[in-house]
Amino acid sequence: MTDLTRLSAADLASQLSTGEISSVEATRAHLERIADVDGDVHAFLHVSDHALDVAADIDRRRAAGEHLGELAGVPLAIKDVLVTTDMPSTSGSKILEGFLSPYDATVVARARAAGLVPLGKTNMDEFAMGSSTEHSAYGPTHNPWDLDRIPGGSGGGSAAAVAAFEAPIALGSDTGGSIRQPAHVTGTVGMKPTYGGVSRFGAIALASSLDQVGPVSRTVLDSALLHDVIGGHDPHDATSLTDAWPSFAAAAREGASGEVLKGLRVGVIKELPDSGFQAGVSASFRGALALLEAQGAEIVEISAPHFEYGVAAYYLILPAEASSNLAKFDSVRFGLRVDVPGGTVEDVMAATRDAGFGDEVKRRIILGTYALSAGYYDAYYGSAQKVRTLIQRDFDAAFAQVDVIATPSAPTTAFKLGEKIDDPLQMYLNDVTTIPVNLAGVPGISIPSGLAEEDGLPVGIQFIAPAREDARLYRVGAAAEALLVDSWGGPLLDRAPLLGGNR
Ligand code: GLN
Repeated sequence: MTDLTRLSAADLASQLSTGEISSVEATRAHLERIADVDGDVHAFLHVSDHALDVAADIDRRRAAGEHLGELAGVPLAIKDVLVTTDMPSTSGSKILEGFLSPYDATVVARARAAGLVPLGKTNMDEFAMGSSTEHSAYGPTHNPWDLDRIPGGSGGGSAAAVAAFEAPIALGSDTGGSIRQPAHVTGTVGMKPTYGGVSRFGAIALASSLDQVGPVSRTVLDSALLHDVIGGHDPHDATSLTDAWPSFAAAAREGASGEVLKGLRVGVIKELPDSGFQAGVSASFRGALALLEAQGAEIVEISAPHFEYGVAAYYLILPAEASSNLAKFDSVRFGLRVDVPGGTVEDVMAATRDAGFGDEVKRRIILGTYALSAGYYDAYYGSAQKVRTLIQRDFDAAFAQVDVIATPSAPTTAFKLGEKIDDPLQMYLNDVTTIPVNLAGVPGISIPSGLAEEDGLPVGIQFIAPAREDARLYRVGAAAEALLVDSWGGPLLDRAPLLGGNR
């Protein structure tokens, strides 16, 4: 029998629908894979102890002739930032150790209703702050391409689970790049939808004006299929758009023919300097553009002069919003409480937050509280918001000239665990090309563009579209993916020396 962990979600779904395989078989294969490799990868913080029961129930319902969703019976990994009633939700923090939510995040509820089978909760940087998962309170995740390297962050667990064939698809969240940068360093696909396109109800908030939930997968079609399940209006989320969205899976299927590339105007940002980008990343990016051009795409140089100030603005806006969002972890309402005999309420709160939060979280709370304090608010938060507007205007002007913008998804390939952990500024620069997308609220997708020549590690290309044009990204992403996979003679991950050999 074929190894079911090697199949895409779309292929699993079609074999499930014809009865060739059962959900129990598909789920068991992935649980065995997790048991086999997760000791090395550490993608999961929690593995469900009833996934096989859920799968058996789907099989029963299918056998009874019930009409099930397209992905029914397909296993799914869930980033630990999303709350779940049947598994703990920690957001990678000690302060929420063992926390059980009284409700499911909307995206989780929708995935369950569509018959997806939750496998477990994936590792992440604490409260989604980071680019390497090294800020997880539960230890880092390791990149399946090279276990000494980072899997990206904050959603390194979801990306590594998908790259290591522990799950066919996963849910992530992206505030400044946490879906796309892990995709880039693990050779997978990650999509950050238009702000408001996917519900954040039950996503533990980092920075509310930036957070988006989205899909993680090995193929563009799989992300589109999952996006179709989780997307759309949610009355529980005040920022949720009421748009009627097209089928993203239909867009991805249509895109795969490559027709869309004829005459497609692809913008390349002239102000993005080559310096700061690893040579192999730039080369892979240019190689992908050349392939697109050969199929009839037009590469257009555009100007986005404020793009490069995104990181600076983000590191004022994000800490400001995070310091407010994290105020609710006060020892009273959720999770950890450190008792201080004879102490005041404030003493208990301070002791709890001191013990429960890690260094990066404390750093950002301090920074955010300072930036919002009376007298500094205008100078810091106010200025950052103005820069944000300028970046949005850059995108508006660019999209008057081009259909999509392309950038490398991150400046370097996966770096070594420990390499940047003591240098927050270096860590922050990982998101130089992803952050402006969150600041503008537009959608962005990262797909593999190849391997960097100097280290043989994966590189991603990011496509960005105007707000609400998520379907365009699936069309273009699927077209680019088909071209690239063809040029490699097969998917990148199928040829990867994963986990130090043929495991
Ligand atoms: N790496 C970025 C940060 O540390 C992005 C985080 C995210 O998207 N959640 O903030």
